[in-house]
Amino acid sequence: MPIEVILAAGRRPVDLNNLFITHPQPGGLVERAEQTGFPRNMCAWVKGIYTVVQTEGIHTVVATTEGDCSNTRSLIEMLQMGGTGVIPFGYPYGGDEGLLDDQLQRFCRVFGATMDEAEAKRRELETVRDRAREIDRLTCETGQVTGEENHLWLIRCSDMFGDPADYARRADKFLKEARLRECVDRFPRIGFVGIPPICSGLFEFMEEQGAQVVFNEMQRQFSMPYRCKSLLEQYRRYTYPYDIFFRLEDIRQEVRRRRIDALVHYVQSFCFRYVQDCIIRERVGVPVLTLECDRPGPIDSRAMTRIEAFLEMLRGVSGAAAEGVKGRHAV
Ligand code: SF4
Repeated sequence: MPIEVILAAGRRPVDLNNLFITHPQPGGLVERAEQTGFPRNMCAWVKGIYTVVQTEGIHTVVATTEGDCSNTRSLIEMLQMGGTGVIPFGYPYGGDEGLLDDQLQRFCRVFGATMDEAEAKRRELETVRDRAREIDRLTCETGQVTGEENHLWLIRCSDMFGDPADYARRADKFLKEARLRECVDRFPRIGFVGIPPICSGLFEFMEEQGAQVVFNEMQRQFSMPYRCKSLLEQYRRYTYPYDIFFRLEDIRQEVRRRRIDALVHYVQSFCFRYVQDCIIRERVGVPVLTLECDRPGPIDSRAMTRIEAFLEMLRGVSGAAAEGVKGRHAV
């Protein structure tokens, strides 16, 4: 969501995904939505967001009607039925610049801000976003930031705790501490692609098993990793709302730049993006482990076993290659 517009209008952005997943009982929020009538075979993120809007007394939401989630329409219909106001924002298919510009201008008008004010806010946020870029650099270049920490700091750029100055203060404190840590460079170097995981403990478990998580694809996108000259350019380069082939260009580039040995593709149960798994596997050029999860909570033993087997396989391939045997990179 272009938070620059919301901030330029003097409002505080709140990412409902963050509100849901940091709730003391996120699983209970999902169950409450099911009691209201949401089917079990629907994505738990959608159900959690629905309930959090009710429980937090939110009167109006901004909904990404194009480019994000195929379930958004039914979610906003349910919210509207309960009296919640909806402000739509749509990323045009194919990233047409004229249509995206129209959306940004319209979004400014709805919030009573001008494009100039929103651009000024974008320039102001650049120095805050630089902190996120530095946290990401310490993840992939020196290993002083863990995969979990990277995930949390980058994903939080979606609303910056509602206050960019607060984000900057907290990030400065974190960076000061992280820079004092020892550098880490372990094998295998793992990248995560796909939706941010709904389950907890995934990154820690991976790192406990000796792997190093050096890339979180979507979380990095939420941080707006490139310095741009305009809001239009920034939200055009943002890969998340556009097609999988555009995302793949970014993923392949980061696989090379970060010396990634293998990827974990996290897929959310009942998410339309699941089908992109076969394209990612086909086109990404490194081994891929696909992990699926349904509800909030710790990762289950099946996921743990699959991660262990995957890491063992990578180490086996690497060992065989070192001995001059041609390893086959397939999972
Ligand atoms: S995981 Fe998929 S289905 Fe669920 S909210 Fe995200 S995009 Fe929508």
